[in-house]
Amino acid sequence: QSFKDYTLSEEIVRALDSLGYTTPTEVQSQVIPMALDKQDLVVKSQTGSGKTASFGIPICDLIDWKENKPQALILTPTRELAAQVTEDITNIGRFKRIKATALYGKTPYAKQTAELKQKSHVVVGTPGRVLDHIERGTFALERLEYLVIDEADEMLNMGFIQQVASIIERLPKERVTMVFSATLPQDVEKLCYKYMSNPMMIEI
Ligand code: AMP
Repeated sequence: QSFKDYTLSEEIVRALDSLGYTTPTEVQSQVIPMALDKQDLVVKSQTGSGKTASFGIPICDLIDWKENKPQALILTPTRELAAQVTEDITNIGRFKRIKATALYGKTPYAKQTAELKQKSHVVVGTPGRVLDHIERGTFALERLEYLVIDEADEMLNMGFIQQVASIIERLPKERVTMVFSATLPQDVEKLCYKYMSNPMMIEI
């Protein structure tokens, strides 16, 4: 199998080549075609499986570069993961000039707000800071089409599930939602049933 088997744009294929990604990992070969088809997904997989690129590749491919307001939101439980995902998205989207903005705490608001005012295709952040920007009116949600909840079980362990739910409540209903989790505790399943439409379950 090769990334050329999917209907990915030339800019994305070129970026994967430059990253040295030649063969899709198992999670990527399952998630990419379904995400390109805009199917809601619950994916049970571990870190290290290539899960970041499994959502990063289709999202970067589907983004409309011309639109200035954010089209994708990726929620992560930690600042470190948010920084890593932002870097990965920037690399995958580099020949398409995709702009990814990281929003997490212990960092000044001013820089984040300035980035959100410019073109920002993808926002990656931790729930508390993302909610702050939504409440301050500095994060425009009306063009949001893709939502990823990464490490959903960790979100639960860290007590972020309520914040995640209140972010989801404010997003446009017409959207694609993907949940990634190493385990599927009942509260994560409940969240999926409440906020997703006929999600397909993928277990790696
Ligand atoms: P992740 O599970 O997203 O943390 O990814 C684990 C590591 O695998 C990261 O260092 C990625 O850069 C790398 N990676 C992801 N997809 C591929 C691929 N298809 N081929 C080679 N390396 C990859």
